[in-house]
Amino acid sequence: MENSAVTVAVRIRPFNPREKAEKALQVIFTSGQDTLVQHPHSKQSFSFTYDFSFCSVDDSNPAFASQQTVYETLAKPLLLRAFEGFNTCLFAYGQTGSGKSYTMMGFEGEAGVTPRFCQDLFSKLASLENVEVKYHVEMSYFEVYNEKIHDLLVTRDEPTQRRMPLRVREHPVHGPYVADLSGWLELGNKQRATAATGMNDKSSRSHSVFTLVMTQTKTESVEGEEHDHSITSRINLVDLAGSERCNSAQTSGDRLREGASINKSLLTLGKVISALSEQMLTRKKVFIPYRESVLTWLLKESLGGNSKTAMIATLSPAGSNVEESLSTLRYAQQARTIINVAKVNEDTSA
Ligand code: ADP
Ligand code: MG
Repeated sequence: MENSAVTVAVRIRPFNPREKAEKALQVIFTSGQDTLVQHPHSKQSFSFTYDFSFCSVDDSNPAFASQQTVYETLAKPLLLRAFEGFNTCLFAYGQTGSGKSYTMMGFEGEAGVTPRFCQDLFSKLASLENVEVKYHVEMSYFEVYNEKIHDLLVTRDEPTQRRMPLRVREHPVHGPYVADLSGWLELGNKQRATAATGMNDKSSRSHSVFTLVMTQTKTESVEGEEHDHSITSRINLVDLAGSERCNSAQTSGDRLREGASINKSLLTLGKVISALSEQMLTRKKVFIPYRESVLTWLLKESLGGNSKTAMIATLSPAGSNVEESLSTLRYAQQARTIINVAKVNEDTSA
């Protein structure tokens, strides 16, 4: 067993075309582990410290963080822990348009964390083959929208989640690859996108959860009897709904309009994080409302439970988004106080 704090990173994306056209002012900067904000109106400055502060604003900056950098720094350590038998989780938090999906999924040529993680996991499995350990990996990919779970790997709604076993195959030229994985990812992403069009900005209000469950089974012979010893790790890669709906800085008009569809899961996630943080700071037992939303119930083990967990908070560099960015930075700061107690998930049976 080991105690470990949630690792928290922030990432600032480049200016988008609209911000460029408006000649937007950059108000967020990084310096080592620190993220600095210069408020464009009050001229106040704010400084926050995280495990990592990634600046992806300008690729001519020597400190520029590429997709590769973010993967290697934040996600790859989780992969190593998964092989040791720990549960792991990485989730992206931030306002809509700040780079959550780019970071978690990316696209062709600019692959994000999820496809890189899968690629590395299966390359490692292929390199470990032929020893006495057997590996089994299952994936699932679903979204939580309006407190309901929708499987992204089936073409119509089914009440149960589909778990796809994945196999490593050997390509005669390109070497080992994961049979079907990219096809399933593509189907899931497409279904997420298709459902979003014409549905009033659905993708910004849904959470997507990509899960791999890896079981390593070792058969040992003790005095002529065969014993199976297995280690299971659950890996959750989560792209959260846009954080802007949960912000107290909204105008009352907006809040009225959103009232009916307020994002319960994201609000509850905030409550869970602040309750866990209060528990850490006061060292007193605090009620943690995991059961109040679908997402927090699903991620219970990843938050204050048995998991190695990391969070990446994504930000726009522009002055026009400074209030949202400050709220994201405060949320990320609070998450950094959460301590999980991770242990290897072992099962020994004769
Ligand atoms: P979100 O999922 O948070 O709503 P997206 O990931 O869709 O935001 O990002 C919004 C836009 O900005 C997309 O066009 C995306 O490709 C682009 N973008 C986001 N982050 C980066 C980045 N670090 N580098 C380059 N483009 C980015
Ligand atoms: Mg997105």
